Amino acid sequence: MSEQVFDKQFFADSLVKMAELTEANRDYWTKLDSDIGDGDHGINLSIGFREVSEKLAEKLAESPDTATFLKKSGMILLSKVGGASGPLYGSFFIKMGKDHIGKETVTFPEFADMIKNGVEAIQFRGKAELGDKTMLDALLPGIDYLQAHKEDTDYLAVMEKMIEIMKEGAESTIPLIAKKGRAMRLGERAIGHKDPGSESSWMLMNVFLEQMRK
Ligand SMILES: [Mg+2]
Repeated sequence: MSEQVFDKQFFADSLVKMAELTEANRDYWTKLDSDIGDGDHGINLSIGFREVSEKLAEKLAESPDTATFLKKSGMILLSKVGGASGPLYGSFFIKMGKDHIGKETVTFPEFADMIKNGVEAIQFRGKAELGDKTMLDALLPGIDYLQAHKEDTDYLAVMEKMIEIMKEGAESTIPLIAKKGRAMRLGERAIGHKDPGSESSWMLMNVFLEQMRK
């Protein structure tokens, strides 16, 4: 059996698809954020990913390896996007490749470690815990599953299950009171609303799965 590897182009294609997904869900994510935040989640991410998409060819050419390319793309999100989501998603991409600098390709277990590094960077920056009604409620249970199953041979099945867990994690934010972000000020009025970051995060991670299926 040939081992699946992922190269710079895989991540570049994923980012293009993430930009398309963001454009298509801009109003939906913004609506979620209007319910319990300041209503800019979709707009902010669309500005950021559009810029990532526009600079993609340039950043690809400048980057000798996957880690550098992801870092440069993350820097765009960090600098271009207002609100909390830009720095959080920016940190994800900036830190994703930190243990794989200089590599042309990564294996699936390495990919799993990259996702973990990215999510840990989000947690480090946002200082949120599980149950705070943030994107981490989707991401943390997902990466735990991914870590536990990264050596499984059927990596697509692992990714599918991870996405399912992340999606459930997003649903789990609905009955919660927020302990981070603007929704915190709403107290009990945040109950009954899904955290916008938890929804955008599993949907963005799902792009990696879709790219793997190709
Ligand atoms: Mg907002």
